[in-house]
Amino acid sequence: MENRMNELVERLNQYAKEYYELDNPSVSDAEYDKLYRELVDLETANPEAVLPNSPTHRVGGKILSGFEKYQHQYPLYSLQDAFSREELEAFDTRVRKEFPHATYICELKIDGLSISLTYENGHLVVGATRGDGSVGENITENLKRVQDIPLTLSAPENITVRGECYMPRASFDRVNQARQEAGEAEFANPRNAAAGTLRQLDTGVVASRGLATFLYQVASPTVNDSQSHVLQHLDELGFVTNHEYHFAKSIDDVWEFIEKVAAMRDSLPYDIDGVVIKVNDLAMQDELGFTVKAPRWAVAYKFPAEEKQAQILSVDWTVGRTGVVTPTANLSPVQLAGTTVSRATLHNVDYIAEKDIRIGDTVIVYKAGDIIPAVLRVVEEKRTDQLVIETPQTCPSCGSQLLHYEDEVALRCINPICSAQIMSRLEHFASRDAMNIAGLGSSIVEKLYRAELVKDVADIYRLEKSDLLKVEGFQDKSAEKLHQAIQISKENSAERLLFGLGIRHVGSKASKILLEKFSNLENLAQTGAEEIASIDGLGQVIAKSLNSFFSSEGAQQLLTELKEAGVNLAYLGQVAQEGAVLSGMTVVLTGKLERLKRSEAKAKLESLGANVAGSVSKKTSLVVAGADAGSKLAKAQELGIEIRDEAWLESL
Ligand code: NAD
Repeated sequence: MENRMNELVERLNQYAKEYYELDNPSVSDAEYDKLYRELVDLETANPEAVLPNSPTHRVGGKILSGFEKYQHQYPLYSLQDAFSREELEAFDTRVRKEFPHATYICELKIDGLSISLTYENGHLVVGATRGDGSVGENITENLKRVQDIPLTLSAPENITVRGECYMPRASFDRVNQARQEAGEAEFANPRNAAAGTLRQLDTGVVASRGLATFLYQVASPTVNDSQSHVLQHLDELGFVTNHEYHFAKSIDDVWEFIEKVAAMRDSLPYDIDGVVIKVNDLAMQDELGFTVKAPRWAVAYKFPAEEKQAQILSVDWTVGRTGVVTPTANLSPVQLAGTTVSRATLHNVDYIAEKDIRIGDTVIVYKAGDIIPAVLRVVEEKRTDQLVIETPQTCPSCGSQLLHYEDEVALRCINPICSAQIMSRLEHFASRDAMNIAGLGSSIVEKLYRAELVKDVADIYRLEKSDLLKVEGFQDKSAEKLHQAIQISKENSAERLLFGLGIRHVGSKASKILLEKFSNLENLAQTGAEEIASIDGLGQVIAKSLNSFFSSEGAQQLLTELKEAGVNLAYLGQVAQEGAVLSGMTVVLTGKLERLKRSEAKAKLESLGANVAGSVSKKTSLVVAGADAGSKLAKAQELGIEIRDEAWLESL
């Protein structure tokens, strides 16, 4: 039980960091909520074992640097949540014990992020994020760029109001389209896009993203007597409030409204993730009060993970970097949790057989834990004369015979020179958690491979700018940028390299453990499987896989070639600590540093959670400039990016 609690706390804290601080969640909210519930249940049953770093103690994420901290005069809360009608009834019973005649106001739960706005004499003076509820980030300048936030109210009031800042679906589609065209990573959903936008240090970007707000609370003392009057008052002052609310006298009424909202959810121009039910009378709210995290007078009903029906039009088989061939269904397009879905994974041959999935079938699709659309099951009633999905016998990329080992579900191409595998290995090597070579995504990898410029990862380091210029689409500037990103990656700490090599079973966590223990890749390559297997957190499978990789001649040669190319094989200890001060920030180093070596400065920045980039762009959070800094510094100044010096870095 304690092990499970430990694991849950660790995972939930990691997910919360990805969600609140990096704006880049790796699991769906439903998955997060399920694990959170499990933790709450275990903690309730074992109060003596509650861990001090449990996420159940706090609201929201950590405060990021980059913005000034802002101490909220009135704390911001989370909401207790409910996933079923029974849980709503339990909430109702608690309320009715105190106030048998309470009425509720049900509001849409807008899927954005909380903001707090303070006005003095009717003028906006501070806009802030929720942060941990008592201290947030001062993002006034950014919020001033959100079109519908009034800078001046219709009356000269001193007031602090709360609401949700969100990205409308139309803005989200536009922003992602532009990012896709620019070869940048797309936002996972409108909420992350809104959170990422409000953390921009460039107010121009905020202005261009089309954010919007709904306000719903007055946090400072108010003369209003009910939540509905609060909404009316906010309207009169010039704020946007959501008018889709509903009064309810009972949980039957509430439930009816929830069902109505669930049915119209897709047609709204913004994302919602539930319905918030609040006691309407403010005097009753006062009496009911708060727990440490949430008001007792409100509950958030959360919609279950969305499921939709779609038809399977065809199936594609693709080869990944380890040779596994995976089936993906092409679907009739369907709106699912804020995006249009037209492809969904079918996992593997066994899954298809077990669920008896066929082409032409109507199936239920949902977004699996990792936000990837997947097929859940076939809608049997809608089956007519569907086509069986043929299992391919040969690799869709290189045409060699596929293998289906008895002990695994995957279908494999074992041809070591299969183009698709080589390209996805190269792509993996350059990816963010591996060597983090910006600009070396799938389409560029494909061009370089087709031009016979790279066939293994060591070739990447042999690329000259002049080679890149020979490839279609590259211009002087883009070639320079990629070349520079490649050079910078040579200085990465070696756990990135190890992970980037894509050795089976060796993920980024195992890579870090291994490099911490063996200091550099050459030592690791010499270590026997038994010693590796005995390390806490690893095991036989990883040990065997590493051993067979390093005992091949090719691997030894690859290490030599990488070393000769100047790629660092040593562990630099630059792994971000929990809650590091620069986490989520993109930092650029420029100019000559006096005391720190550049690799040391980079290691330090990374150990503080920063992502160190080679060039200044709107995405840069701050620039550390040494002596004689040139064009990068000028560009940073032009873009209004925060600039720091070496002494500042040393003081961290
Ligand atoms: P919450 O989202 O469950 O509810 C509280 C928030 O609802 C408020 O702070 C407010 O911002 C918002 N809200 C929207 N409309 C509202 C309205 N009309 N009235 C009042 N409030 C309204 O709580 P939270 O603490 O912000 O976040 C926790 C949730 O975040 C989790 O339950 C999970 O769904 C999600 N999360 C996901 C991950 C992940 O990795 N996917 C990680 C951490 C948290």
